[in-house]
Amino acid sequence: MAAEVLATAGVQVTVLERMPSVGRKLLLAGRGGLNLTHSEPLEALLERYGAARPRLEAAIRAFGPDDLRAWCAGLGQEPFVGSSGRVFPSGLRATPLLRAWLHRLDDLGVDIRTRTEWDGSLDGVTVLALGGASWPRTGSNGAWTTALADVDITPFAPSNCGFRVDWTPVLLDRFAGTPVKDVRVSFHGSSSRGDVVVTTTGIEGGPIYALSSQLRDAADRTIELDLRPDVTDVVIDARAKDSRSTALRRAGFAPIASALLHETGSEDPKRIRLRLGAPMPIDRAISSAGGIALHAIDDTFMLSRHRGTFAAGEMLDWEAPTGGYLLQATFSTAVAAARGALAYLRHT
Ligand SMILES: Cc1cc2nc3c(=O)[nH]c(=O)nc-3n(C[C@H](O)[C@H](O)[C@H](O)COP(=O)(O)OP(=O)(O)OC[C@H]3O[C@@H](n4cnc5c(N)ncnc54)[C@H](O)[C@@H]3O)c2cc1C
Repeated sequence: MAAEVLATAGVQVTVLERMPSVGRKLLLAGRGGLNLTHSEPLEALLERYGAARPRLEAAIRAFGPDDLRAWCAGLGQEPFVGSSGRVFPSGLRATPLLRAWLHRLDDLGVDIRTRTEWDGSLDGVTVLALGGASWPRTGSNGAWTTALADVDITPFAPSNCGFRVDWTPVLLDRFAGTPVKDVRVSFHGSSSRGDVVVTTTGIEGGPIYALSSQLRDAADRTIELDLRPDVTDVVIDARAKDSRSTALRRAGFAPIASALLHETGSEDPKRIRLRLGAPMPIDRAISSAGGIALHAIDDTFMLSRHRGTFAAGEMLDWEAPTGGYLLQATFSTAVAAARGALAYLRHT
């Protein structure tokens, strides 16, 4: 994105990419439906960036969700708003978008050099967009931190990740891989609603990811699951000789509900207390926290210690939940860094 902004302004741009092709994480993101941004009001969207909001706000206002949607449409992928308010390109996938984008960059004369590792040299004007440290097999391995040893970098941590749960073999035998539909997950006064999945090693899913930054940093990670978030009380019509699982099934609960109650020793399907273990490894997290500290860049996204070097995207230390907020901030900061680089070029 930074290359596009710079090349459109007439700058000769060379992109270095260590992998055999560009955009591998974007393509991976597109596998489950490329959620580009969110359609909620801008004020609500900005709140998703938590402590990083003050440093990201100007960039997101300058290239916001409407700009991103227009950009996507301009590449022939008219975006649409899904039922949850999330915005996707038509066709959902990243492949046609990336293909059209690469054609555009080619037309602009951008020179893309794949299989070329950035070696840490900072000659000329450089925009770094080297990503975080999740899913390293897409190329974003976080190894760039050693080349920026004099820059303040917060250690990487998994974000939007699942957590370990020591499930009993009995539960795993029947329910590994089973989704628990439409639950509210609460933790320390915050809650999130959606589907979670019981996996062989733990628990995954949107509501867990949404709470993952708080859970990651907590000593006691006991969450509460509400399997009927729309009602205040669950009435279970337990008849004589009914087992609890039969009574729950009659009340419309899936078999996993009674298994979870049994597993956790809970009585109430609206208040299942589940103790989570460690976060899943960063390799499989959707995103990473950590990276270049936001105080190490100025308002134009230039590194204070390296004049002429700008940084954008997930390599900066901010985090946000899933819902399109990761790509939105990635695009917005890339545009801001490129505009910063243009202003720098004009004044040097
Ligand atoms: C499974 C999955 C699903 C996701 N789904 C969504 C979603 O639907 N919506 C959303 O908003 N976000 C989603 N994300 C997150 C989103 O993909 C990332 O936040 C985004 O790609 C970050 O962009 P970036 O350009 O900062 O970094 P990256 O996309 O990671 O790109 C960095 C690039 O730099 C290259 N590189 C690294 N080091 C070097 C070096 N030394 N020299 C040369 N090249 C180097 C890497 O190979 C890589 O190609 C998803 C992530 C995952 C893993």
